Amino acid sequence: MIKGKHSGADLTIFAEMSALAQRNEAVNLSQGFPDYEIDEKLKKLLAEATAKNFNQYAPMAGNPVLIDNLITFNAARKNPITLAVENITVTPGASYGIYTALAAVLSFGDEVIVLEPTYDSYVPAIEINGGTPVFVPLNDNFEIDFTALSNAITHKTKAIIINSPHNPSGKIWRKKDFDDLAELLHNSPIYIISDEVYDVLTYDESEFYSAFQHPQLKNSTFSIFSFGKMFHVTGWKVGYVLASEELTIAFRKIHQYLSFSVNAPAQFALANYLEIFDVEANRLQMQQKRDFFVDAFRELPFTLKEKAEAGYFQILGYENISALPDKAFAGWLTEHAKVASIPISAFYKNNVNTQTVRFCFAKKEETVLEAANNLKKFLP
Ligand code: PMP
Ligand code: GLN
Repeated sequence: MIKGKHSGADLTIFAEMSALAQRNEAVNLSQGFPDYEIDEKLKKLLAEATAKNFNQYAPMAGNPVLIDNLITFNAARKNPITLAVENITVTPGASYGIYTALAAVLSFGDEVIVLEPTYDSYVPAIEINGGTPVFVPLNDNFEIDFTALSNAITHKTKAIIINSPHNPSGKIWRKKDFDDLAELLHNSPIYIISDEVYDVLTYDESEFYSAFQHPQLKNSTFSIFSFGKMFHVTGWKVGYVLASEELTIAFRKIHQYLSFSVNAPAQFALANYLEIFDVEANRLQMQQKRDFFVDAFRELPFTLKEKAEAGYFQILGYENISALPDKAFAGWLTEHAKVASIPISAFYKNNVNTQTVRFCFAKKEETVLEAANNLKKFLP
C-alpha cells in the first residue's frame, strides 16, 4: 500500500455523498452543482469554438481575449479590481489555482493557517506541498476571530488561506475584516491565498470584496476564481488567479509544468460569454433559488440560524429531528428520506459533531420541491 501524502479522506465527502444519493435514488442536494440548463448562448459559443478551430494549445497564461475581457469585467465590478495582463493566469479550475499558489510559495515545514470550517481541498494541497496546516476556528457565526488568528501566527507561518464568500456557510468578509487582516499582517512576509469562487453570487445587501482589491494586502495575495460557479458550468473546470506581477511569475513557473495551458474551446466560449454576461440577473436568479429553498423547507423541522449571504449552500440544524452525529444523520437522511446533504463536520479536521448539514440550493425548483416532499413524508 502506497503511503498517502496527505491527511484528507480517501474519498471526498462530495463524491461519497453523491454516490450514496445515487445508490439510494435520493434527491442530491449534497455536492454543489446545478441541475438546470445553462444559457443556450454559452452552449453555442462552445460549439462555435471547435468549429472555428480553437482546438490546439492555448497560450500558457490564457486566451488573450479572455484575459482582456477579465480586465474589463473586474474593472466594472461594484468594488472594482484594477488589473493588467501580468496579473491574470487562467487555470483548470479554482482547486488547481489554490494548489498551484501553495506550490509556488511553500517550502518543506512551512505552516499554513486555515480557518475552520474549511473547504476540503486546502489541507491536502498544503500537505502535498510539504506544508503543515494550522487550524484556527471561525466563531459560531462563521466570522473570523482575529485574536485566535494572531495567536496562531509563528515565525514558520508562510501563508493564510481565506475563503469569502465562504463554503459551507455563505458568509462574506466585510471590508473591515480585510482592513483588520492587513493591520495584523502589517510588514509580515505572510502570503494570502484567497478563495473567492462565489464572488458574483451575493444576496440581499451583501457586497463582495476581493483580497486583491486591498491596497495593503494586494502584493502578497493570490485571489482565486472559478467560471464553474460563475456561469453554472462546474464540469468545465476553468478558473483564474489574480496576483501581483512577481507572484504571477512564481505561479506560472509551476503552472507551465503542471497543466501548461487550459482547455482552448472553453476559454474561447468563456471569453465571448463574458461580453454578454449579466451579473445582476445571474445574482438575482441564484438569490431567488436560495429563497425558494428556504420557503420550501420552512414547514420542516429543521432550524435556520441565518440565510446564506452568498454562494450555493444553506446550512440547517436538525436538533429537533435527531440526536445522531451529523455524518450519521446525513447518511440516514439519504437512505430513509431520500434527500442527500453534506455533514458540516466534513469541513473540520476532527470531524466534530456540528448537528448541522449543508444543502445545495443551486437546483431546479422541482428538485427542491421533490426534496421537501420526501422529507415531509418522512419527518415528524
Ligand atoms: N473552492 C470552493 C470554496 C468551492 O466551493 C469549490 C467548488 N466549486 C472550489 C474551490 C473548486 O472550484 P473548481 O471546481 O473551479 O476547482
Ligand atoms: N465545491 C463543491 C461543493 O462544495 C464540490 C466540488 C467537489 O466535488 N470537489 O459541494
